[in-house]
Amino acid sequence: MGLRSSQREFHRVVAIDGPAASGKSSVARELAGRLGFIYVNSGAIYRAITWYLLEKDINAEDTDRIAQALESAAITCCIQASESRILVDNVDPAAHLRDDRVNESVSRISRLPLVRQIVGQKLHERARSDDLVVEGRDIGSVVFPQTPYKFYVDASPEVRLRRRAAQGERDEIVLRDHADFSRSVSPLVIAEDAYVIDTSHLAIEAVVNKIMARLKQMGLQIWRCRD
Ligand code: C5P
Repeated sequence: MGLRSSQREFHRVVAIDGPAASGKSSVARELAGRLGFIYVNSGAIYRAITWYLLEKDINAEDTDRIAQALESAAITCCIQASESRILVDNVDPAAHLRDDRVNESVSRISRLPLVRQIVGQKLHERARSDDLVVEGRDIGSVVFPQTPYKFYVDASPEVRLRRRAAQGERDEIVLRDHADFSRSVSPLVIAEDAYVIDTSHLAIEAVVNKIMARLKQMGLQIWRCRD
């Protein structure tokens, strides 16, 4: 199924794209809470698939085995406490999604067209039943190009490296950025109509306030708003 088909069936989607450690997750989660929308972390779906393939000892270059494994895997995107969770063959890999080996491999797995197609379909399915705040790399540019609510959250490389280090994670964000910006399929780009916010010197609350103001200005009807 093409990613652009039947997009009229979708509920409202706020797209939050940006590079690693730009503040997307904290901002998207808080924003979803304020709007009463479901929070979806699309990176977590790429990470769950990467974890699953690593568990099966399949490496990122072995596209035949990846296709076989993903054809038989049951990948389910469910909702718990207003956030999406991903299960693979009924296992919830949440505790492993930020393991070093997942950090190291996720960009090589996520550049594969089959993997992108699977994740795109999961996101479309979710948007058929709920209003969403979705964070990722290609949400406004490729997955939901029709949504008017597009934001691109960025921060200087120094700030992003500092944030990751403060989280105590070994994450080569420079390498991941390079892979995410330069891949041929759905690279990280700033969608033409995205509203860009530099979070380098802003607290999460200030970023969310800016997005809320913009959404209200754009006429987004908010029924369950928590200010
Ligand atoms: O957002 P997070 O850093 O957890 O994403 C992990 C990886 O998943 C990214 O580095 C990128 O390779 C991939 N990704 C993607 N498209 C998205 C979300 C994540 O390619 N929409």
